[in-house]
Amino acid sequence: MSETRRKPIAAAATMGRMMGDYFRELDEASRSGSHKVAWCTSVGPAELLRALGFLVYFPENHGAMLGSTRCSTDLIPVANAAGYSPDICSYLTSDIGAYLQRTTPLARAYPGIERVPRPDVLVYNTNQCRDVQDWFGWYARELKVPCIGITSPRSVIDVEAGPVEDVARQIEALVPTLEQVAGTRLDIDRLRETVALSRQCSDLWGEVLATAAHRPAPLTFFDGTIHMGPAVCLRGTPQALAYYRELLAEMRQRIARGVAAVERERLRLYWEGMPVWGRLRQHSELFASQRTAVVASTYCSSWVFKAFDGADPFRSMARAYLQLFIVRDEAYKERYLQEMIERFGVDGILYHDAKTCPNNSNNRYGLPQRLQARTGVPSLVISGDLNDLRCVSDEQTRINVEAFVEQLLERA
Ligand code: SF4
Repeated sequence: MSETRRKPIAAAATMGRMMGDYFRELDEASRSGSHKVAWCTSVGPAELLRALGFLVYFPENHGAMLGSTRCSTDLIPVANAAGYSPDICSYLTSDIGAYLQRTTPLARAYPGIERVPRPDVLVYNTNQCRDVQDWFGWYARELKVPCIGITSPRSVIDVEAGPVEDVARQIEALVPTLEQVAGTRLDIDRLRETVALSRQCSDLWGEVLATAAHRPAPLTFFDGTIHMGPAVCLRGTPQALAYYRELLAEMRQRIARGVAAVERERLRLYWEGMPVWGRLRQHSELFASQRTAVVASTYCSSWVFKAFDGADPFRSMARAYLQLFIVRDEAYKERYLQEMIERFGVDGILYHDAKTCPNNSNNRYGLPQRLQARTGVPSLVISGDLNDLRCVSDEQTRINVEAFVEQLLERA
């Protein structure tokens, strides 16, 4: 096998079937009305929605599909023409553009599905950014469905009782509207069970990612961006647990057999920021051709929620959704990244400065310089975007990455 190819993961077939079932069930519910459908932001209160019997759809996951299928570049201008700036989140502009053009990559991936499921309610959490509220607000006006959510603190220094109580009360305050839309009362035991399932899913996903601390790493960031699908879309369900047990077993088997994700791994990098969805394969091949494994990332680790506790569902959800890296202040981010550098034995950090997502671009306030002074680990910033490929220069990225690898090898 060529050194530049990503080594296929056998469990991917199971994941493909599972994600297919997930989208077909949503499609069927949307057509027949058999279940209510809630749209939720990717780090929103999905557990509460599932406990109330909603099927949960995540528009950011659709945004990532629009990016990885490289449809976004044609769709973003459609949203721009409707008044949504090219400078704001390109998930938002891709997704609204797709809606206005009546297109979705789901139709190609899953024959029989023609459109994204229609929501009965839209639920956001601004812990990650304000864009999600504006995004869901657009659909609320367009589809005339209720839009409710949590207004979260940002740049949180310590996740203490005050903010946790505030967010927990906000999650509880969603219940009456959700009960009305769902046509049922919240069963607290079902919520406890769902939160406990999300916790197990998080733990297993965290264990999968942790296998990359091994040398050579059995999986890379690029595998992680694909295999995080169930942690985002199916957390709180038994299917997600079954899937991550299978994936974890495969990664442990790779370690036992000395199977490397990148042949003859010689350098290990950390990816900070969003993936460039339309360039996953190219980036994976670029690093593999340099015998460099991108072993860890903030992005994939963002769905490892350590605070979920079925015994205390509302407060533990609030804590989990406040402890996220993206919600925290710069000092926390520095400590977190230092810990990841040490845990994964990283030789260098790559910061992706995503034009339309300042929230996930952590190179803009001196963090790379402070972290390098503290750890001695060099870094590289690449300019690009999650979905808008007009902001991506492939040639510049390749030149910069190759020069960075050379620099790291000289230090070795
Ligand atoms: S965090 Fe960034 S990519 Fe995600 S929804 Fe917000 S602006 Fe978009």
